[in-house]
Amino acid sequence: MRIAICPGSFDPVTLGHLDIISRSAKLFDKVYVAVLKNSSKKPLFSVEKRIELLERCITDLPNVEVITFSGLLVDCAKENDAIAIVKGLRAVTDFEYEFQMALINKKLNREVETLFLNTNAKYMYLSSSIVKEVARNGGDISDFVHPAVIDDIKNAIDATDNR
Ligand code: ADP
Repeated sequence: MRIAICPGSFDPVTLGHLDIISRSAKLFDKVYVAVLKNSSKKPLFSVEKRIELLERCITDLPNVEVITFSGLLVDCAKENDAIAIVKGLRAVTDFEYEFQMALINKKLNREVETLFLNTNAKYMYLSSSIVKEVARNGGDISDFVHPAVIDDIKNAIDATDNR
């Protein structure tokens, strides 16, 4: 069985993420979407809520499972018998950092390969932070995220604005 891992913060999950996840699900027998626990950025959603939102969006992908990880990604890959880390590449600006991570991860565990899927042109500009920015300013986010998570994002933004 060929297992891959798609890591990220998913705060919140966007259609860009879901594109990479569903394409990975076609290439591998099993895909673990790994939500990073110890992110330094101040998140909008708790890890538990990010998992819940992701799970709502992947109901049509039976071979995808959401997990969490902290510590080294290669250790998470090993624990889950993954042979590959799949990452999405949006633009050249993503490249330098991702290239560095891929080389470090290879150094830490040479059994695990990093694969890059290029972004779907439709989602090239899309990131979790852009979605939050648009929502914060009252913009329509329905082209950016799965319909099942729109209300939760709006509500979370409203709650932070009113604090
Ligand atoms: P973000 O940069 O939106 O905060 P994450 O850190 O959660 O996203 O990223 C998780 C993975 O999804 C990374 O491999 C990232 O490159 C990829 N990704 C995020 N948005 C897109 C997109 N619009 N197109 C392709 N890949 C993406």
